[in-house]
Amino acid sequence: MSKLSAWFGGTFDPIHNGHLHCAREIASLLDLQNVTLLPNNVPPHRPQPEASATQRVELLKRAIQDAPLFSIDCRELERDIPSWTIDTLTLLREEVGEKAPLAFIIGQDSLLSINKWDRWQEILEYCHLIVAQRPGYSSQHADNKVQLWITRHLTDAASLHRNPCGGIFLADTSLYTISATDIRRRLHHSLSCHGLLPDAVIEYIAETGLYRPR
Ligand code: ATP
Repeated sequence: MSKLSAWFGGTFDPIHNGHLHCAREIASLLDLQNVTLLPNNVPPHRPQPEASATQRVELLKRAIQDAPLFSIDCRELERDIPSWTIDTLTLLREEVGEKAPLAFIIGQDSLLSINKWDRWQEILEYCHLIVAQRPGYSSQHADNKVQLWITRHLTDAASLHRNPCGGIFLADTSLYTISATDIRRRLHHSLSCHGLLPDAVIEYIAETGLYRPR
């Protein structure tokens, strides 16, 4: 059994099959027993999610109700103040201990704009980054400093298990042309989201009127 623990942060407004399928592929590729979903507390100066924090958690619960691979960690939502990823990673590192391999899953788009994250160059001191492919994003979208940083830290699957942190692993996941922005737009226009979201999530959205037509 792998001791590598993996966390997957996101706004999840809403969680969709792009998130879930990529995470499942990564788990299978790396023999992960669990992936913990970590919904973000969005800072007030950023565009706010359309779903409330409670609704985003309910969406996550519905999405994973039949998927034992996943669990949910609401620590960022339970704090009064928005937490930076680096702060959460610091806490996670304290919890797992200094030697345990710890990974944070992100999409390729997030990797290429990682220089917008607080203390981004310190992130690899706490975890590995496992990067899911995302259609339409290549390293040309990153500035030179980020490209160099990525190249310097690229690693393979075995190193993720061997070392506690420090590597960037580009996972060869399938390409899923699914985004929360597009899903919200489709729902605002009463368009079908069949295949883009788990059925239980579609049901919750219908029950609550969330993302209803504008
Ligand atoms: P939005 O369209 O509002 O930007 P999103 O679909 O990117 O939302 P987030 O909750 O912001 O969803 O994403 C959380 C993480 O999941 C990010 O690191 C993002 O790159 C990744 N991700 C989201 N959708 C995909 C996808 N289709 N394929 C791979 N990674 C994805």
